[in-house]
Amino acid sequence: MYKSCNIILHGLCFFAGELVSCCYAPNDQINGGKPPILFDNYNGEIIPKDKLFARMHEFSSQFKNGSCPKECENCFKIEEKDWDESEYIDYITITHFSPCNADCIYCSNNLELDERKTNTYEIMPFLRYLKNEGIIKQGCELHIGGGEFSIYKECDDILSEFGINKFANIYIPTNAIKYSAIMHKALSQGSAYIVVSLDSGTRKTFKKIKRVDAFDKVVENICKYATEGTNEHKITLKYVIIPGVNDNIQEFQKFLDVGKKAKVVQYIRIDIEARYLRSVNNIINPYYLKLAKKMKEIAISQGFKPEFHSFIQQSMAQNINYKDKIRNLINFIELKYLKKAEKEFYTNHKY
Ligand code: SF4
Ligand code: SF4
Repeated sequence: MYKSCNIILHGLCFFAGELVSCCYAPNDQINGGKPPILFDNYNGEIIPKDKLFARMHEFSSQFKNGSCPKECENCFKIEEKDWDESEYIDYITITHFSPCNADCIYCSNNLELDERKTNTYEIMPFLRYLKNEGIIKQGCELHIGGGEFSIYKECDDILSEFGINKFANIYIPTNAIKYSAIMHKALSQGSAYIVVSLDSGTRKTFKKIKRVDAFDKVVENICKYATEGTNEHKITLKYVIIPGVNDNIQEFQKFLDVGKKAKVVQYIRIDIEARYLRSVNNIINPYYLKLAKKMKEIAISQGFKPEFHSFIQQSMAQNINYKDKIRNLINFIELKYLKKAEKEFYTNHKY
């Protein structure tokens, strides 16, 4: 029994130019913080398994010896338990690519787009090697990041190798501008989960946020994906609250209407824009907490199942006392009810 984390023992993450353990940011990555770096100057090379695990042990042994790698300090993934130290991979993050067919106003990829565009290597040779060697465990998690996965050159290959045969559970953020038949198949077979960040309920607001005129196409594709067999938490619609752009109930209601149109979509995620959080040093204006709570109430009353995933994680991950704060925030969202007099203000307020 000791403090460690599953990902440092069994995780791989493909970054642009680096193979690292994870993409978590206990020390803020935007400000130069890095997760544990396994191999620098990495461009998809096949690393022999012994060499790979020898390097991974350099980090995991620090936990075993009672200390903590400096990159992992304050990480919310750390927990105390009996760890399985055998050599396998069961958590892979793919976030080394950035091309996208949208241009969201909040996208962090925009900052490094040119650099990453020229540096998108192939990962399938290495992943196939690890799978054939029995290193990647059946049932492992694949988390996609980066740009738009449906237009990434190895998208179909990855889904064929890990999704269609139900080898892995694949978590995919997609803007759904491009319909992917293979993604649909993986969804129907229960091995893929998609999160579509729609952030709007109208063409006008969508265009303002995504900076492409594709609202109708996206709604059409969401409805296509939402066919029979994809109804158990396979499709989540996300609403990122962006100050001054979509921070009102009217837009949110239209967003819910898209969910209704897509019939089997039940799960929605309410988030808050990461750059806003940074600009206010993670101290969220109470207006947004109340707005999120109000959105939650409305969504539940219309049969949706709302989650607050990154809304909570992003705001608190860098805070040493984050667990208490998360608890308080959840309690706040869960338990504090709006007074009638506040209703008008919160439904009409523009930040
Ligand atoms: S403790 Fe956190 S930063 Fe370190 S490997 Fe695990 S998830 Fe990554
Ligand atoms: S869809 Fe995703 S990757 Fe593409 S611009 Fe928007 S946030 Fe960035």
